[in-house]
Amino acid sequence: MPSIELNSYMDMPSPLSVEFQKGRITLEKHRMLMLHAGAMGSLRRELMDTLGMEWARRVLTRMGFVSGELDAGLVRRLMPNASDDDLLLMGPMMHSAEGIVRVSPLKLDIDIANQKYYAEMLWEDSFEAEVHVKSMGLSPEAVCWIQIGYACGYTSAIVGKRILYKEVECAGCGDRHCRIIGKPIEEWEDAEAEARHFEPIRVADQIIQLQEEVQHLRYSIDDQVAMGEMVGTSNAFRDTCELIHKAADSQVTVLLLGETGVGKEVFARSLHSISTRAKNTFVPINCAAIPEELIESELFGVEKGAYTGAQHSRPGRFERAHGGTLFLDEVGELSASAQAKILRVLQDGEFERIGDTRTRRVDVRLVAATNVDLKQAVEAGRFRADLYYRLNIFPVIVPPLRERKDDIPLLVNRFLEKYSARHGKRVTGITERAMETLMKFDWPGNIRELENMIERGVILVGPNQHIDVKQIFPCVDLSRGMAGAGAGPGGEAPREAAGSLDHMVESALNQSASLEQIEQIMLTKAVERSNGNLSSAARLLNMTRPQLAYRLKKYQAVPDGVTD
Ligand SMILES: [Zn+2]
Repeated sequence: MPSIELNSYMDMPSPLSVEFQKGRITLEKHRMLMLHAGAMGSLRRELMDTLGMEWARRVLTRMGFVSGELDAGLVRRLMPNASDDDLLLMGPMMHSAEGIVRVSPLKLDIDIANQKYYAEMLWEDSFEAEVHVKSMGLSPEAVCWIQIGYACGYTSAIVGKRILYKEVECAGCGDRHCRIIGKPIEEWEDAEAEARHFEPIRVADQIIQLQEEVQHLRYSIDDQVAMGEMVGTSNAFRDTCELIHKAADSQVTVLLLGETGVGKEVFARSLHSISTRAKNTFVPINCAAIPEELIESELFGVEKGAYTGAQHSRPGRFERAHGGTLFLDEVGELSASAQAKILRVLQDGEFERIGDTRTRRVDVRLVAATNVDLKQAVEAGRFRADLYYRLNIFPVIVPPLRERKDDIPLLVNRFLEKYSARHGKRVTGITERAMETLMKFDWPGNIRELENMIERGVILVGPNQHIDVKQIFPCVDLSRGMAGAGAGPGGEAPREAAGSLDHMVESALNQSASLEQIEQIMLTKAVERSNGNLSSAARLLNMTRPQLAYRLKKYQAVPDGVTD
């Protein structure tokens, strides 16, 4: 087995062995590698290309530092009886023996016992300067970073304090050779700047920080990040999302059902954005917000001269949504005539503009939404049965916020980001107390109400502060306040909401509410919450059952289905 021994050169017992058959080179017990200097050169260049000069320098300097420390330990074990001064001189020898650079001391003034260290060395034939010049050309600054790291790592380990070497001449800059000076770090004037080259780089931290900044900017630029607003982990939310995904894959007409403020339009936008129509337009229209006499021209467009004032022809929302998605909110509010025309578009894809005889065709996916019971509207004759069946092919219930309370923390964060960006104010978060209050609130106004509260909180709170209860609940209106104040599990009124009682009372006074009215609302709400069970309603109100029964009788407000 061929083996090379450097005993004579290093005057040490068998420090280096090269065992080709085993594929191992060891120096003492350390596994060593024989690499092409050109490969190191390529690694250096890639580091510089991907991380930039400063970060590449740090990575390589730190690598050299570790290498120097390892050699110091190795030499100390091999020469247990050598003095520190002798061990120091082994550093340059090791550096030379490893093929890195030929080192000759120029000036040494070292007294380790008295913590004195000054060394000046000549580096000839530096491998690092060579590969740098080969791959990058001459550099304006010294480039032997791995080697400097090594000198610092080796010397600091032997001396037992931080010794910093600097390259004052470098072949990588075109000098004839490299020259380095080393002394304790505190003796360098620019110690702080130099020490930075030895610090680790936190690329991941920086990327995360940049991602946060991008997200922040994105929210501030685009108010309608549909998927971005759809956040949640609750089962109710997941179930709805699953249905939305299924619907998005097809062209089916979707009917979104749910209370006011649950975010039906957000779900409609999300559906559009993940569907094959995403590259085309999403056109929303709120049927309840447009006067009955204008809704048809709004939906189907107008031809010039159709009626007084129609001086220009213009397309309606159906035409604008061609190839995309039309979102008809509050579809239950449509007039009979508009209902008939929509049914025709759904069946044949055809319509005419108002005042026009030409039939137009469109390809539109319809997403409708309602917060009323359409089936009941059909039974009452207010809504066409055939249109109802057309719309109700794929109904999706969007849950009220009180059924997805687990999502409140996520939604709060989402709205905090959105509104701190919009109002240009950094808000550090929300207090635990405020979050508890939000979790206990009943949310009659759903997500829209939560969003409004958070926006108000962002406006009211000081910069770099947490939003507290008083900024979120400054003026809850009476009936809703009642719902919220007692909404805690087990029915105890949360202490956190007590502060908002003042605001509720003020609000009640502003509305000139009488004591009787307030009492009546409280009684009714308690009975409703207890599903008509008077005993538990009485517990909610902190009174006895007979007291409650007496008061209800006084107001003759005994609701149907009241039980004990
Ligand atoms: Zn150099």
